[in-house]
Amino acid sequence: MSKVKKKIKTIKVDLDKCNGCRACEMICSAFHATPKYSSNNPARSRIRMIRDPIRDVYVPVYAGEYTPAECMGRDKYVIDGKEYDECGFCRASCPSRDAFKEPDSGLPLKCDMCEDDPPQEKPLCVQWCLNDALIYEEREEEVEEEVKLDDVEVGLGSMVDKYGLQKVMDTVARMAQKS
Ligand code: SF4
Ligand code: SF4
Repeated sequence: MSKVKKKIKTIKVDLDKCNGCRACEMICSAFHATPKYSSNNPARSRIRMIRDPIRDVYVPVYAGEYTPAECMGRDKYVIDGKEYDECGFCRASCPSRDAFKEPDSGLPLKCDMCEDDPPQEKPLCVQWCLNDALIYEEREEEVEEEVKLDDVEVGLGSMVDKYGLQKVMDTVARMAQKS
C-alpha cells in the first residue's frame, strides 16, 4: 500500500472550561440544516453536551463512527474524583442511545469538521465556544492509503442493519421505477 499525506484535524476539549452553554450544539445543527442556518435543533447536532449540573459534569462529545451493535462491556471513568456516566465519552452512533442519530430518519450523524466550500477558518463549534473549551488543531501525517466508505454507503449500511437487505433493495428498486 502506498503512503499519502493526510491532514489530521483535531478539536481538543478542555472540560474545565466548558460550562454547558450548548452554543456548540446550536451552531452545529444550524450549519448542517437544509438550507443552511434555516433551523436549529440540538438533536441534529454532531456534537452533544453530556451534562449533569448537580455533579458539575459537562462533556462535549463529537459524533464519530456508526456502529450496528452495542459494546459487550462499558467504560466508566473517574477523573479527579469525579465519576462520569457509562458511555459518557463514547463518540459512536450506537443502538444503545439516541445521540448522534438524525431524529426523523434515524440515520447516523457524524462530525465532518464543518467541511465547506470555501473552507471555514475553524469548525463552527470552535468559533462559537466563547469559553475556549474547544481548541482546533491541524497537523500532517503520512499514512497508508485507505479505501473510504462514503456517506451514502454508511447510511445504506445502517438502513440494511435496521430493516434487512431485501427490504432496502425492494425500496431502491421501487424508487428507481418512479424516477
Ligand atoms: S466540527 Fe462542525 S460538524 Fe463537527 S461538531 Fe463542530 S460544528 Fe458540528
Ligand atoms: S459552546 Fe463551549 S462552553 Fe458551551 S457547551 Fe459547547 S463546549 Fe461547552
